Amino acid sequence: MSKKWLYGFFGILLFVVGVLIPQGKALAFHDVPSKYETEIRYLIDRGIVKGVPGGDFAPDQIVTREQAATMVGRALGLDGDRRNTVFYGVDSNSYASGYIQSAYEKGIITGYTDGTFRPKKQMTRGEMAYLISKAFSLSDQSPVHYDDLQSSGSQYEAINKVTTAGISNGYSDGTYKPTHSITRTEFSLLVARGLNANFRVSQDNNPLEERVVTAGILNARSGPSTSHSIIGKLSRGTTIEVYSEQGDWLKFSYGSLEGYVHKDYTAPKTSGSRTIAIDAGHGDGDGGAQGNGVLEKEINLKVAKRVQDYLENSGIDVVMTRSDDTFVELGDRVTYAVNHNADTFVSIHSNSFSNPNVSGVETFYSSSALSQRASDSKRLATFIQNRLVKAMQSNDRGVKDVPYKVIDDTPLPSALVELGFVTNDSDASKLGSSYWRDRAAKAIYQGIIDYYNWKG
Ligand SMILES: [Zn+2]
Repeated sequence: MSKKWLYGFFGILLFVVGVLIPQGKALAFHDVPSKYETEIRYLIDRGIVKGVPGGDFAPDQIVTREQAATMVGRALGLDGDRRNTVFYGVDSNSYASGYIQSAYEKGIITGYTDGTFRPKKQMTRGEMAYLISKAFSLSDQSPVHYDDLQSSGSQYEAINKVTTAGISNGYSDGTYKPTHSITRTEFSLLVARGLNANFRVSQDNNPLEERVVTAGILNARSGPSTSHSIIGKLSRGTTIEVYSEQGDWLKFSYGSLEGYVHKDYTAPKTSGSRTIAIDAGHGDGDGGAQGNGVLEKEINLKVAKRVQDYLENSGIDVVMTRSDDTFVELGDRVTYAVNHNADTFVSIHSNSFSNPNVSGVETFYSSSALSQRASDSKRLATFIQNRLVKAMQSNDRGVKDVPYKVIDDTPLPSALVELGFVTNDSDASKLGSSYWRDRAAKAIYQGIIDYYNWKG
C-alpha cells in the first residue's frame, strides 16, 4: 500500500469523523457513565435524551414524571407540540405538555384520581414499569418473583412484563423496590432496551441463586478450571451470586469481582430463617462409649462444634443443647431446642460394641407420632447418612428406625448420628483425628443443607 494512498485514507477518515462530531452530542457530556455509554449514546444520537440545563447528562439525577413522559414520547416519536392536556396542573407551555397529552392518548400514562398528573413528582420504579410496559406494548409474562411484591395486581403484571422482556430487573437481594425513585441513567437503560433488543438483559444476567462459600479461602478464577488464573479470594461465609454452571464450576459475581469458583466449596444459601438444634450426646459424668483411648462425649462435642461453625457460616441459626462438658437430661435437650425455636434436631453420638470388628456409620430416626415429622426425619437421616458414609469412607450400616428418646419424644424432625465405633481400631483412629472429625462435621452440615433444600 503506497504512502500516498494511506494519507488519502486518513484524509477520508478525518473528513468522516469531522462530519460526525457535530452530530454526536454525547461528546459534549463529560459525565455519561462509561459502563452504559453505548446505551446512552444510542439515545442521545436519536435526540431521545438531552442534557440538563448546564449541559451535562446528570446520570444520578432523579427522573420526574414529566421527564419520563418526554423521554418515552421522543422514543416513540409521539407528537410533542406544546398544548393543553386533560390533566389539571400541567402548564400548556411546559416542554413536556405535548408528550404528556400524547402519551395519555396512547394509554401509556395515567394521572391521579383527582385529575392531576403531578409532573414534578419523582417517578417510582413501579410507575416506570407500568409506563415502559405500555410504551413498548409488552405482553409476555413468566414466573417472576420478588420478595417485596405480591404476585398479583396491575403493578405486579407491569413489573413481570418488563422483567420477562429483559428490560428491567430487581436487586440482588431479591427485591424490586417499586416505591423507589429512578435515576436518569437507570431510566435511559430501560428506554434503550425497550427500543433495541440488543441491549436487553439476557437470562444470564439474572442470578440463578445465591450460594455461600464453605471453604476457608476459595480461589476465584478467570475461567472454569484450575488452569485459569486466580483473580481473587473469597472467605468462608461470603454470599455470591451464581449466574450459570459449567460442569463443576460456577460463574459468579461478588461486588465487582466476577469469575468462576468450584461448586464443591459452596453451598446453597437457604431461604428464610432456619434454626437447627445440634445435640452433642452425653457429657460430664456420662462419658458415653469408650475404647481405643477415645471417649465418646469428647468426640461428640468436637464434631458438634464444627457442625455449628459450618452452619452459622451459611447463615443458619444454631441452638446447641450443650457447648461444654456438662450433663443435660435427654428430655431437657428436646425442650431446650423447642423453646429456642429450632425447626430441626440432630443428635451426634459415637458407637461401641463387644465385637471390635464391627464398624461403620449409621443414622437413626423415629417413625412414631406425626407422619409428616416421621417422613421428614427419615429424609434428614438419609441425607446425613449418605454424606457421612462418603466423607468417612466407612462401612454403611444404613438408616434405621429406632425410637431413641431425643429423636422420638419430640415435635421436631430429628435424626441421631452414630459417627463410628470407638471399639473398632479403624473407626477409633478416625474419631481421634481432627482431620476426620472435620470431614464428619462437614458431611453432617451438608446433609442438613440437603434436607433444607429438599424441604424448600
Ligand atoms: Zn451415645
